[in-house]
Amino acid sequence: PKVYLNGDILAPDEAKISVFDRGFLFGDGIYEVMAQIGGQFLYQEAHIDRLQEGLQKIKIDFDVRLLDTEIPKLLDAAELHGKDCLLYIQITRGVAPRKHAYPNQITPTILMYATAQTLPDINDVLAQVVSMNDFRWSRCDIKMTSLLGNVMANEYGAQKGCYETVLFREGLVTEASHSNVFFVRDRVVYTHPENEYILSGITRKIVLELCAQLGIKVMEEAIAIEEVVKMDEAFLTGTNTQIASIKQWDDHFFYHGDTIEGVTKELQWAFKELKERNSTL
Ligand code: PMP
Repeated sequence: PKVYLNGDILAPDEAKISVFDRGFLFGDGIYEVMAQIGGQFLYQEAHIDRLQEGLQKIKIDFDVRLLDTEIPKLLDAAELHGKDCLLYIQITRGVAPRKHAYPNQITPTILMYATAQTLPDINDVLAQVVSMNDFRWSRCDIKMTSLLGNVMANEYGAQKGCYETVLFREGLVTEASHSNVFFVRDRVVYTHPENEYILSGITRKIVLELCAQLGIKVMEEAIAIEEVVKMDEAFLTGTNTQIASIKQWDDHFFYHGDTIEGVTKELQWAFKELKERNSTL
């Protein structure tokens, strides 16, 4: 693997960052992950736009357009040009003496790496999830590198052998530790509205577009934790997760057996077709 760091392409053990980088000291940075599928990044514009918006929200002065020429350099060096891979991009505020307030005139640290990875056509995992109080802060719309809240939430589920940990705030389901959450009831799709309690997932956006194309009604409405058992289906979305059916939520089973059906299955097929259309190969 190769690492891109501030314009240089390096071996991972050569890539070094100052201990005074604010990304290290404060988790003061924004990151992005996108998947190259069939020779092209899926929804690259949307990912890059979200990165720029995140940087603007925390006033890191960096023009993401610069990445248009830098990403191909990394992919060429890593021999991943046109190959299926996941690209990680992280922009931290930079190096400065440790003081909380944003320093002036600081150069951001740009880190990227890509790993060869082919996502399955359809995620056929029958996910088991546990729910937990969403104890994170109130700016979950910011895709920041300080992920301790998400890490702790994910660990809680991992300890129980679960695929994901779903979160609820004041009794309403927000999202999961690294994915968005959807429900289906009477062929209507429900998901938490886009606000400061969730990350505006690109896969979430794709699913909303697919619903519109398929004529499936969507309500961007938060579901109360007690209502979950009344839902017909539930699924998770994310760049890596794609669309994952939830089979078991705490002690509740949405279905028995091992086949994914209903609106979740329709969306999984539509997502597969979208990826095939996106491909340049
Ligand atoms: N919510 C959280 C907290 C996430 O970390 C992610 C990204 N893995 C998502 C939702 C899904 O976002 P996307 O579809 O853009 O990957």
